[in-house]
Amino acid sequence: MSVQIFTAKPLFTALSALAILFSCIAASSWKSDEYKSGIVWPEPPIINPGTATTAPSDAIVLFDGNNLDAFENGDAWEIADGVATVKGKTIRTKQTFGDCQLHLEFASPAEVKGDGQGRGNSGIYFMDKYELQVLDSFNNKTYFDGQCGAIYKQQPPTVNACRGPGEWQRLDIVFTAPRFNEDGSVKSPAYITAFHNGVLIHNHFELLGGTYWDQPAHYEKHPDKLPISIQDHGNPIRYRNIWVRENIHPLDGKKPEE
Ligand code: MG
Repeated sequence: MSVQIFTAKPLFTALSALAILFSCIAASSWKSDEYKSGIVWPEPPIINPGTATTAPSDAIVLFDGNNLDAFENGDAWEIADGVATVKGKTIRTKQTFGDCQLHLEFASPAEVKGDGQGRGNSGIYFMDKYELQVLDSFNNKTYFDGQCGAIYKQQPPTVNACRGPGEWQRLDIVFTAPRFNEDGSVKSPAYITAFHNGVLIHNHFELLGGTYWDQPAHYEKHPDKLPISIQDHGNPIRYRNIWVRENIHPLDGKKPEE
């Protein structure tokens, strides 16, 4: 009896293996039909993505090195050699923006003066209300939710990716504007995703409201679009290559009626 079991086992194992092989072949041929969603998409617009120093072809150029005509108070700042230096006044775009992608380059002063919030302070305000802090945070400690790249007094950057004083740095920011109900309550909050020198510092951060120096964050109903402003905080920060894109929403596909 024990001999029969001993000889039957290899045969059983071989048959099992064959069965598994055939079922695998059957399953793979069943899966070979390609899945398609059936959604009809518009073709994604073809753009020229630009270069390290030029904007994408679908961008609104706010500063290309020549003038700050796109901004109110733009004539207050100094412009030389394709670079605009903060001087005397905060500048605001004449055009208003809601959801957008913003690119700019900045350099904090090569000559280090002051410390904490007093060193190389400026800032990018979306809708004139929501500040992503610009500061010289290279070997310069301050409160973490007020250092360079912070959503001011709401969220520090995930890392400190600052370059040294005088060195050019990049900021690439995606801003989603808040939406409000008729009664002034928040329908959906604002969000920011940001890269500092190519490094992610905010990943779809949900803003708690406007960023204030002297009060907690809170929302107040406002129009769908407002200016982007760049802060004068008394320090000669340099800026160049500033552009914004509004074409950032998902394409709208349609499923044909059955
Ligand atoms: Mg600031």
